[in-house]
Amino acid sequence: MIQGINPGDLELRGMLLLCDASGIELESHALHEAAEGLLAGFDGDWRQKGVHAIAIADKQSFQIRRDEHTHPILKDCCTLAKPLLDDSNELAAVLGLIYEPRDEREEREARALFAAWVKAIQSDLIQVRKQAEVERLAAMKHGYEEEMRKKAVLYQVAKQLHGNMDVDAVLGEIMSSMKKIYPSADIALYLTQDHSSQLPMVKPLQIQHGEEDSLMRAYMESRAVFTCEIIAGRRCQRLAVPLSGKQGVYGIMQVIIEEGLGSELDVPFITELAECAGAAFENARLHESSNIMIHELRLINEITRRLNQSLKPQEVFQFATDELIKIFKANFGLIIQTDKDNRVMTVQSSNITEMTHASFDLDYGFAGLMIESREPVIVSDYAQHPEIPSKFMEMTGARSMIGSPIIVGSEVLGVIMMAHRLPDYFTYGNFKLLQVLSGHIGLAMTNASLHAEVRRMAVTDHLTGLYNRHYLDEQIKLMQQRDPCGSLLLTDIDLFKNINDTHGHQIGDESIKQVAQIIKGSIRDTDIAARWGGEEMAVYLPRLQLDQALMVAERIRRRVEEETDPKVTISSGVSHWNREDEKISVESLFYRADMALYEAKRTGRNQVRIG
Ligand code: GH3
Ligand code: MG
Ligand code: MG
Repeated sequence: MIQGINPGDLELRGMLLLCDASGIELESHALHEAAEGLLAGFDGDWRQKGVHAIAIADKQSFQIRRDEHTHPILKDCCTLAKPLLDDSNELAAVLGLIYEPRDEREEREARALFAAWVKAIQSDLIQVRKQAEVERLAAMKHGYEEEMRKKAVLYQVAKQLHGNMDVDAVLGEIMSSMKKIYPSADIALYLTQDHSSQLPMVKPLQIQHGEEDSLMRAYMESRAVFTCEIIAGRRCQRLAVPLSGKQGVYGIMQVIIEEGLGSELDVPFITELAECAGAAFENARLHESSNIMIHELRLINEITRRLNQSLKPQEVFQFATDELIKIFKANFGLIIQTDKDNRVMTVQSSNITEMTHASFDLDYGFAGLMIESREPVIVSDYAQHPEIPSKFMEMTGARSMIGSPIIVGSEVLGVIMMAHRLPDYFTYGNFKLLQVLSGHIGLAMTNASLHAEVRRMAVTDHLTGLYNRHYLDEQIKLMQQRDPCGSLLLTDIDLFKNINDTHGHQIGDESIKQVAQIIKGSIRDTDIAARWGGEEMAVYLPRLQLDQALMVAERIRRRVEEETDPKVTISSGVSHWNREDEKISVESLFYRADMALYEAKRTGRNQVRIG
């Protein structure tokens, strides 16, 4: 009801109407029940009736007398119209009255009443306009203050983020700023999987293609996605904004706010905040990864230097295993070496006693997989996917594992495996670093085995594969310092010239090899057999007493006689030393064996003599 007007003041058939400065109806009232019909006759547009148009255009009062109306419904009606001006004399509204007076008196009374209504509304209108203006200014002020507050937050965040090189600190700053602006909001950060964080509000972004989720859309399309949806029975606004830098999208910030609790999500502001955060996150990540890279390069450099200091394969394996366990803070680790000729692989070093030196078929378990595919392996939870049999994982109860083949050139030399009891323990960075280190370990292994091969060649006689004279001399010297006693056996093939003359030098060589094989097969691993020269061979038997040495010599003599083809025989001289001897030397030991050998030759060959 238009304020200050009581329609019951007059028993008037008519209607009162308030329209705005452009003629749009604001309010209309039937003044009397009988006026309902009158109202119904109108279509509501007073401009069409030309009634208020004049008042609006001319800012003039206007009236139409009873007999002046041309509209059939308004035939007996009078019309009054009055422009209502605001305090700056601008047209604010028009009040109109259409009525059907029954007589002159009613017509006069209506005009007087209309004048009173105009007065009441006019002052009311100015009041309302003032109030509206105050409210408008207050709203503007509030909006401006809100804008300033957000700008201040943005500035604060930007200042905090700028130069902050700690990824978690950057993420924490973003979250706390958002919380300040939207205290009732539910805020979460979803980071793509190669970025992890210790913060509880930071979750991994599970990338599932094809899923119509606002998080996914924001990530895929790299733009803010705003939705209104019902969450847990409540109408909510949800905004997903990408956290992106120059090099890509690192994650999504999601803000959910319940509708009707006062604050609305300011999409441009949050987007700007996320952009600022994305750039800071990228900076911090780059800084962090360059630090990691420097650390890793130092580590690789140090490990390579130390690996190459050692020229013994076993030392390389042990050192590498120990270092890798330390670097990755793994619970378990091992290095396996492949032996392609024998189709097996052997654990060369490990921190699990039961696994050390264990051998497996080349196609067994994860190692078999890596040897076959030449690719590294990462297992996040073996308990969830135990499809591949693995003694290493089963025996240790480990849940996570990273493994890498050791490849040098085109050859897979072995496999490294590191494991931990916790699932999802190793990072992608660990996985990549292990690959890099495995290359260096492979080179160190090759170096050590090449070195071992050179060493072996330097002490080996090429024709027979026995040690050479120099090595034998050296070893006897060492053992004479250490052991209580030892025996030496010197052999010479009988009438060997005849073999050469009869069968040629090549067969002669074969004969020498046959005798060497028989000697090797007749002694223990700790005994040292060497080619002394030509068709003469020597065996040093550490800690062996003379009678036992004689038995060995006799066994060799008999086997040579029985097993060689073309048949040859050997003569042998055996000498012995022990701690109590007056003079202990390699030369004297050989001299006595040589004398005994000479004696064997002289007295008929194919026999053993003691010197
Ligand atoms: P015995 O020792 O019984 O007195 O007679 P022998 O014929 O074996 O005589 P001796 O030990 O003096 O001669 C060794 C011969 O062995 C001389 C040489 O032709 C031959 N010989 C030495 N080294 C090799 C070798 O590496 N290969 C071959 N095929 N023959 C060799
Ligand atoms: Mg000889
Ligand atoms: Mg001879």
